[in-house]
Amino acid sequence: MAGTATSGTPGAVSEGQVLDALRPIIDPDFNKSIVELGFVKNVAIDGGRVAFDIELTTPACPVKAEFERAARERVEALEGVTEAAVNMTSQTRPSIPRSESAEAVLPGVRHTIAVASGKGGVGKSTTAINLALALRASGAKVGLLDADVYGPSVPLLTGVHERPTAQNRRIYPLEAYGIELMSMGFFLTDESPVIWRGPMVHGLIKQFLTDVEWGELDYLVIDLPPGTGDAALTLTQMAPLSGAVIVTTSNELSVVDARKGLRMFEKVEVPVLGVVENMSYFTPPELPDKKYYLFGQGGGKRIADELGVDFLGEVPIDPRVVEGGDKGRPILIHAPDSDAAQAFRDLSATVVRKLAVLAAKTSMVADANITWVKS
Ligand code: ADP
Repeated sequence: MAGTATSGTPGAVSEGQVLDALRPIIDPDFNKSIVELGFVKNVAIDGGRVAFDIELTTPACPVKAEFERAARERVEALEGVTEAAVNMTSQTRPSIPRSESAEAVLPGVRHTIAVASGKGGVGKSTTAINLALALRASGAKVGLLDADVYGPSVPLLTGVHERPTAQNRRIYPLEAYGIELMSMGFFLTDESPVIWRGPMVHGLIKQFLTDVEWGELDYLVIDLPPGTGDAALTLTQMAPLSGAVIVTTSNELSVVDARKGLRMFEKVEVPVLGVVENMSYFTPPELPDKKYYLFGQGGGKRIADELGVDFLGEVPIDPRVVEGGDKGRPILIHAPDSDAAQAFRDLSATVVRKLAVLAAKTSMVADANITWVKS
């Protein structure tokens, strides 16, 4: 029978040998072998041809290519193997804490990332969209919810200005650069500032979380309103959040604001993944080795240290962020080779890793609960 394990064939390797060859490949996030983690699946041996799947916990796994190469090389090095076909798949484990009542909110979404800041103008929306694009570029299905109801910027940042369609009380997201989008800005007819009263904000956010037809998403990035006011608070209370990224600049020395933000997430038991410092330094094109820290160096790191959370890195100032932003072309699209774009890709890889670890913990807790219920 073609395609089935024929380890009995003289000269052919056995499944055990294939697994042993793969055992030394360690997932750096779990610090465990990919074999022990159960990532290796469907080993099929057909004479000298060996095929198997490596099932990752996210399609955006930053070490996907390294795993694939190492696995192929290791199996092809076995005596009797002429070819190893590695099929990289993924089965995203959700990191969203779901209580029974949260079940109806964002049902098809596996991870939600809140992007927050103490105040406006630090690059929160820029970070949110480029983080979403970097996650998409690494192979994940991604949505971006612009929950900054007071100053929605997703229409401007993406160049999408249509009105979303609605059917049977479901609102359908728009799309740009392969990511699904929803923003209050799509429903506004002019550019006058929106004045919302508390209950309206509450209702609107609820609608965004329950009535938007996101479908199946690996990651939903949520651009929060700045600060810890009504809208931000409502969102953190209503949305099942996997984790939060706090954006700051080096001169935003308000540890008080940052701490307020941290408390807001702590209250709803949302892990803060860390602090990212935007507009950190400038590198003139003619001096590519120089970094000028125009607003002082180390402010973001200091805030992260004070809060006891991780520092997620620096994003440089690049005039192309503004230039592209005005044309609906985020830096990841406008200048993908720039250091700023690379910084956002690095941020995305870090976020993916942290969420994968959190998801493993969440499922461990879930498993533990099941055992507890049974006993
Ligand atoms: P927020 O969402 O915090 O209000 P925005 O993302 O809208 O901030 O950014 C504020 C302004 O700063 C925008 O004009 C944006 O283009 C610009 N900006 C953000 N990040 C950078 C950067 N790394 N380099 C240059 N300009 C930036």
